[in-house]
Amino acid sequence: MTWTDDDLIMVSALEHYAYCPRQFALIHIESVWDENVFTLKGTRLHERMDEPVVETRAGLRVERALPIWSDHLGLVGRCDIVEFQCDGTPYPVEAKPSKTARRICHDVQVCAQGMCLEEMFGVPVPAGAISYLGSNRRREVDLTNALRHTVETMVDEIRRLLRTGVTPPPVNDSRCPNCSLIDACVPEVIEQVRASRLERSLYIPEPEP
Ligand code: SF4
Repeated sequence: MTWTDDDLIMVSALEHYAYCPRQFALIHIESVWDENVFTLKGTRLHERMDEPVVETRAGLRVERALPIWSDHLGLVGRCDIVEFQCDGTPYPVEAKPSKTARRICHDVQVCAQGMCLEEMFGVPVPAGAISYLGSNRRREVDLTNALRHTVETMVDEIRRLLRTGVTPPPVNDSRCPNCSLIDACVPEVIEQVRASRLERSLYIPEPEP
């Protein structure tokens, strides 16, 4: 499959879309970005990991900041860490500053990384992991068929959204207080405007036939 530059999707964008399609659109269509404590931690973390490094740990090859892509899905990106098992199987590890209540956001990202690595190296990638640096813990993510299907569906939805260029309405729910874009998004204000427009439209009399 051949993709134009406009059709290529960053693997990291899946996390934004999974969190909130409006957040994705604000960042990737409207080029809005703002920092909060979570994004600042993430930025610092990834600054430390952006230097490509190949090393050997416990006899295994480990690559940091490895560029990845999938011609099949039209994805491009970078893996924080890829550990190559004894049999050569790549094991992607995505570093996150802390846990999230919405695990799916991290899971789709690591699954997409695994799908890219499968295509690049021509071997099955059954699992990956999220590494939470705050706690030095890892959570393994099984790259199940259901999760892969979610990634494929999300990639299609993202591509459709990018083609329309229309930012979706706010979700205005429990995601918003922790969202770095809340000031740019103003979800409550937009919801009020939408609600009052809807209310007004209900009172506009239908034209006489
Ligand atoms: S503030 Fe809420 S609606 Fe707006 S982008 Fe963030 S999560 Fe989405």
